[in-house]
Amino acid sequence: MKINIIGGGPAGLYFAILMKKANGSHQIRIYERNGPNDTFGWGVVFSGKTLANLRAADEESHAEITKQFEAWDNVDVVHRDAKISIHGNSFSGIARLQLLKILQRRAEELGVEIEFRSEIHDVESLRHDCDLLLAADGVNSTVRMRYAEQFQPELDVRTNRYIWYGTNQLFHGLTLTFRENDAGVFAAHSYKFNSSTSTFIVECDPDTWEKAGFARLRDEHTREYLGEVFAADLNGHPLLSNNSKWINFLLVKNQNWFFENVALIGDALHTAHFSIGSGTKLAIEDAIALAEAFQKSTGVDDALTTFTSKRRPVIQDYQAAAFESMIWFENAVRYMGLSPFELAYSLMMRSGRVRYEDLKRRDPEFIRRYELQR
Ligand SMILES: Cc1cc2nc3c(=O)[nH]c(=O)nc-3n(C[C@H](O)[C@H](O)[C@H](O)COP(=O)(O)OP(=O)(O)OC[C@H]3O[C@@H](n4cnc5c(N)ncnc54)[C@H](O)[C@@H]3O)c2cc1C
Repeated sequence: MKINIIGGGPAGLYFAILMKKANGSHQIRIYERNGPNDTFGWGVVFSGKTLANLRAADEESHAEITKQFEAWDNVDVVHRDAKISIHGNSFSGIARLQLLKILQRRAEELGVEIEFRSEIHDVESLRHDCDLLLAADGVNSTVRMRYAEQFQPELDVRTNRYIWYGTNQLFHGLTLTFRENDAGVFAAHSYKFNSSTSTFIVECDPDTWEKAGFARLRDEHTREYLGEVFAADLNGHPLLSNNSKWINFLLVKNQNWFFENVALIGDALHTAHFSIGSGTKLAIEDAIALAEAFQKSTGVDDALTTFTSKRRPVIQDYQAAAFESMIWFENAVRYMGLSPFELAYSLMMRSGRVRYEDLKRRDPEFIRRYELQR
């Protein structure tokens, strides 16, 4: 089979690895507009369950990935200067660049061709030149736009703004920090992803963003401003930029997941709010499900139909949980009157997927203290 893939992010690379592993005679080429060492963002998170899926799909890359991991089992909620830890939540962090380098190496080792610094504009020619054109080109997918009539995308630009920074302050756990000033409420989502660096994403509502005057601040001044807001948490460490910009979260869904020989995967197909930290997991698990569908099918159409029917309910479920979580953060100001324990409890329950009994089993001490305070 001849497969062209647009986008060398986690989804495109992982699908290429699995297809080439299953059949070395497939001709697979990835077109990636960036160079091999360029990336946006800092670290990404995986749950324990995702790691088991990665191990089952490809032990070699799993071994490399887990060598680089920083693991933890606590969610920390910081509110009114109190830090509440909730244990029993197994997660690991890795630098996005590190993850991409491991997947690039593995793909090239297997014989996948990766054309870096190759931005695709003429999608139509590329699709006539292969059996399958896979659009793994991210949240602002060119392919999805080019064939909008066929895919029927639903795009929802949310009101909150967020910015993805790094810092050398180490957060030993998934830490959700709330700070207020005259402008409003700021939430930080942070976690370490190697021995010296943490991801530090700041989110705020549009009123807060306006009042803080971010529209007029250059990057260094924005970092200084947020450094003051989170001074007690950053312990003197500055915020680090990596071409960081304020973004409105874009919620992506598509009515149709494929047409003829063109299919969407990963963020091009669907997004889930970063507060449940599962974009990379979903992208890679899409790749696993699609490669499996090809193993069991007779042709491209059959495989894409199987993939869609198996994967759509899983994605709908994740997007529903992520939606509840996103709404919680969009309305964070309403929860600021809660005590630290009440806020931590509300956060743990926000997606509607965790029950009281689950929390009690994971961390009985947290529930005992929450009940006492209530
Ligand atoms: C603030 C923030 C925090 C996040 N935190 C987490 C987290 O903690 N955990 C997690 O799992 N996920 C997280 N994510 C989500 C995660 O980054 C994405 O969900 C994931 O990268 C999706 O993988 P992908 O392969 O589908 O797309 P991408 O990683 O976006 O890759 C798409 C690739 O396509 C390339 N490309 C695009 N257009 C073209 C073109 N025309 N020609 C050639 N190449 C092209 C791009 O350069 C890019 O390399 C976060 C996202 C954000 C915004």
